[in-house]
Amino acid sequence: MNTHSSRVIVCGGGVIGACIAYYLAVRGVETIVVERTGVANASSGKSGGFLALDWCRGTPVDRLARRSFALHAELAATLKTDLGLDWGYRPIETLSIAASQPRDLRHVSRGISPEWLGQSTAVHARIGDKRTTAQLDPFQFTQCMMAAAQAYGAQLRMGTVEGVTFSSDGDRVTGVLVDGEALAADNIVIALGPWSILACNWLPLPRVYGLKGHSLILRFEPAEPYALFAELEMDDGQIETPEIVPRLDGTTYICGLSDTKPLPIDPAHVTLEPGAADRLRAMATAISPALGASKVLAEQACYRPITTDGLPLIGRVPGVGGAYVATGHSVWGMLNGPATGEAMAALIVDGQTSTVDLAPFDPQRLL
Ligand SMILES: Cc1cc2nc3c(=O)[nH]c(=O)nc-3n(C[C@H](O)[C@H](O)[C@H](O)COP(=O)(O)OP(=O)(O)OC[C@H]3O[C@@H](n4cnc5c(N)ncnc54)[C@H](O)[C@@H]3O)c2cc1C
Repeated sequence: MNTHSSRVIVCGGGVIGACIAYYLAVRGVETIVVERTGVANASSGKSGGFLALDWCRGTPVDRLARRSFALHAELAATLKTDLGLDWGYRPIETLSIAASQPRDLRHVSRGISPEWLGQSTAVHARIGDKRTTAQLDPFQFTQCMMAAAQAYGAQLRMGTVEGVTFSSDGDRVTGVLVDGEALAADNIVIALGPWSILACNWLPLPRVYGLKGHSLILRFEPAEPYALFAELEMDDGQIETPEIVPRLDGTTYICGLSDTKPLPIDPAHVTLEPGAADRLRAMATAISPALGASKVLAEQACYRPITTDGLPLIGRVPGVGGAYVATGHSVWGMLNGPATGEAMAALIVDGQTSTVDLAPFDPQRLL
C-alpha cells in the first residue's frame, strides 16, 4: 500500500464521494466523508438513476461506463447478500418515444405500445434491453453505498469543508478545514459535485459548473415498466425532452427543464424555478394521462456537475501531493459512480489504476 494512503478525507457525500469511500474502506483505508447537508441530498438523490452499458461508446467515457455498468450489477447482488442492502436495482427495457400535446401520434407507433401511454404518444424504437439498460433508486443507492462504507469502517462527518491545509513547504495537503477546525489527513479527495468549484480557491483545479434540472416523483406503477426518453411537442410549440423512469417501489420519476440559474453556495438553498413543477406535470400528462393524474410525492431541483469539455475530472490535483479530485460526471454520475470509486481507491492506495484508463480525465488537461 502507498504509505500516504493511511487516512483519506473525502469531501462530499454524493454518489461519487460515497462510492470512493466504499472502495477505500473495503481496502482497509481509514476514510472520513465530510458532507454539508446530508448524504444524497443533492443531484445524487434527485437524479433518474438510469444506467446504460454502451451509450458512451465512441467517447473517452466508454470504458468507465462499461466497467461501472458491470459493477452496478455486482454491487446489487453482493451488498444484498453481505449486508442486506437493497436500492431497487433492476435491468429494464428502454424506449425512445415521440409525444405531442396538440396532435394524435398513436398511428405512427412502431410495434411496442405500452398500454399506459396516451393517444398522443408514439414509440420510435427500443433503444435498450435488459442486457444494456438498468435503473436504481439513486437516493437509496447513494445512502446504501455510504452505509456499506461505514460497515467497512468509514466515518461520516456532517460539516462544511471550508478549505485545505498544506505542509510548511506548500507541496502537500495535510487535511481540510471543517467548520473552522483543521481535520488532518494524508490524502484528500474533492468530490463536491458542482460545489467543487469552491476548491478552485484552494487548489489548482479547473472550474466546474452546475446545470440545473427539475424532476417529479409520482405514485404510479405501470403494468409494463419501460424507461422512456421522449421528444415532446407542447401546446406552446416548445419541444421538451423529458426522461421517465418507473421504479420498483411503485413510483415513477420524470425529469427535464434544464436551466442555467446560478448555483447557490449552500446546497440546502436549491429551489425549483416558478412553474417548473406544473410544466413537468403537463409533460407527464401529455405522455401518459394516467401518470399525469397520479399523486405527486416530490417536486425537486438539483444541479449536475459539468466541466468545460464535458468530461469528468478524475485524478491527482496537479502539483499538490495527496490531493485528488473526482467530479464533473454530468448526466452519468449515477452510472459512473462505482467505477470512479474503484479507480480512485486504486490510484490512492496502489498509485495506479488497472480497471480504467484515467488519462482522459486528468484535471491537468483543462489548466
Ligand atoms: C435531473 C437530473 C437527472 C439525472 N439523471 C441521471 C441518470 O439517470 N443517470 C446518471 O447516471 N446520472 C444522472 N444524473 C447525473 C447525476 O445525478 C450526477 O452526475 C451525480 O449525482 C453527481 O454526483 P456527485 O457526487 O458528483 O455530486 P452531488 O450529488 O452534487 O454531491 C455533492 C455533495 O457535496 C456536498 N457539499 C457541497 N458543498 C459542500 C461543502 N462545502 N462541504 C461538504 N459537503 C459539501 C453536497 O451537499 C452534496 O451532497 C442526473 C442529473 C440531474 C440533474
